[in-house]
This record gives sequence, structure tokens and C-alpha cells, in this order.
Amino acid sequence: MRPPLVYHQAYSAPLPSSHRFPMAKFRLLHDHLRRHDLARPEQLHEPLPIPRRALELVHNRAYHEGFSQNRLSAADQRRIGLPATRPLVRRSWLAVGGTLLTARLALRHGLACHLAGGTHHAFPAYGSGFCIFNDVAVTARLLLAEGAVTRLMVVDLDVHQGDGTAAIFAAEPRVVTFSAHAASNFPLRKQTSDHDLSLADGLEDDGYLALIGGLLPELLEQARPELVLYNAGVDPHRDDRLGHLALSDTGLLLRDRMVLETCLRRGIPVATVIGGGYDDLAALVARHGLVFRAAAEVGLLLGL
Ligand SMILES: [Zn+2]
Repeated sequence: MRPPLVYHQAYSAPLPSSHRFPMAKFRLLHDHLRRHDLARPEQLHEPLPIPRRALELVHNRAYHEGFSQNRLSAADQRRIGLPATRPLVRRSWLAVGGTLLTARLALRHGLACHLAGGTHHAFPAYGSGFCIFNDVAVTARLLLAEGAVTRLMVVDLDVHQGDGTAAIFAAEPRVVTFSAHAASNFPLRKQTSDHDLSLADGLEDDGYLALIGGLLPELLEQARPELVLYNAGVDPHRDDRLGHLALSDTGLLLRDRMVLETCLRRGIPVATVIGGGYDDLAALVARHGLVFRAAAEVGLLLGL
């Protein structure tokens, strides 16, 4: 079976063409996956906006209303780095709903992939670094509140620390957070995840894969999660504009395969989100496509 995928055509909200966030990547990723036979129509699921009561399991009302009604202070808006236009507000609510739907599909099918998500710099009362709402945190809190799972783990391999996620779950033993990131990257002031792997600038494929591969099985054995939420950010790539590591395309593909196989062979379902990546659109979109290729391969291999 091919893994279920979650996508909404409103994900690529229009931004001024001069804006440095590559907002078109979601739509282009969808087109790329369709072209490469990695997203057949029967695989695609469309999310609903996250319900307000679910969002409020993480974000306080003053913040989400302030953002959604474009009433945040100029400083708070700048910290996010994206304008609160109506399409952007809509896609922000949809993308959290998308990660939730992806997690539900993963629990049902073993593996599911979101064509967005991974906005891990968002904190309960403010957004930061292009992240408005913390989709993974909202999803984890809701699944726990519903009793759908009793323990889960966030595996965040975006090149930037998952600081919002780490802070949100600092006092939550049912959510184990693991972030592997370049030590020198944003955010300057790191939070404390349950497990932080701080990486040196310029780290290449072999060293990176050995470190992650050496740690992940042990973390899974300790945490025994019933679901892994995997941020497959592609900004550890050597050509990334914001990342400080030096992975190749092959390195990213091997990483994604390794994470998926390590979890799935233990019977732990995985929901993937795409996370960050900053490069020319064509290269970036192909890079985000790697986790979908890994998911198709691993799904086939393990007969999901
Ligand atoms: Zn990042």
C-alpha cells in the first residue's frame, strides 16, 4: 500500500514575490509528487482547519486571535516574519489540521506524510522564524487528550532546534522530544529538549547518519512511543541558505529511510511533516520530495 498523504491547495498562500519565504513550495511539491508518481489521487487527503479548542491546547486565545485578526504588535509580527493576510491566516489553521489528520492516518495505516507542517519555532503565546502555530505540538496534545495515544515522540531533524516544541513539552513526560540541529544555527538561545543533539558546522552525510543512527534506536527503546511525529526538514543540506550542515540529497534520503525503518520495524507508526528548507524553488521542492520517496520505498519494503 502507498502511504496516505495530506495536502490542501490553499497551503501556498500568495506572498509578495520579494518575500524570502518560499511559500510556493507546497503547491510545487504537490505537483512534483504527482509528476513522479509519488502522489496518486487515491493517496491524497484534504484537511479541515484545526478546531479552535484543539489549537487552544497549546496556543492562548489572545495570541491566535491577535494573529488571525491581524492585531499583533509590529514586533510580534516581525518575529513571525510573515504577513497576516487572510489567505495566510487560513492556511495556518489548515496546516495544523493537516498535521493532525496525518497523525490520525499514521495511527490507522502505520505511515502517513504531510505536504506541509513542522512549524516548530512557534510558542504558546508567540510565533517566530516563519512559524505561527506549532502543528506538531497541537497534534500531540490533542491525541493525548483524546486518549488516542498515551506516549509519543517528536523526532525533529530540521537543522534548527525545535525550540517551541521543546519548551511546550518541557514538563510533559508523555511527549519525548528529540532535536538534532546545528549548534550555531537559529535560535541563538536554545531550549532544552528531552534529547538534544548539537551538531558542528559542516557535518557531512556519514558523520550525520552515524550520529542519528547511533542514537535513535536507543531513544525509541527508552521512550516506547505509540506514535512518532517526524520533522524531515531539508535545511541540513549543504546548499541550504540558512543551514550550516553539509548533507547531500542522498544523505537526506538515507536519513529519512533510516528514521522510517527504525520506527516502523519496531511497530511504531510515523507521521512525517516537511519542515524547513531554503534554496531555489526547484532544488528545494525536489529535496522535500525525498521523504515521500523514502516513505513509498519503506512502505513497500515493510508491506504496510
Ligand atoms: Zn529549519
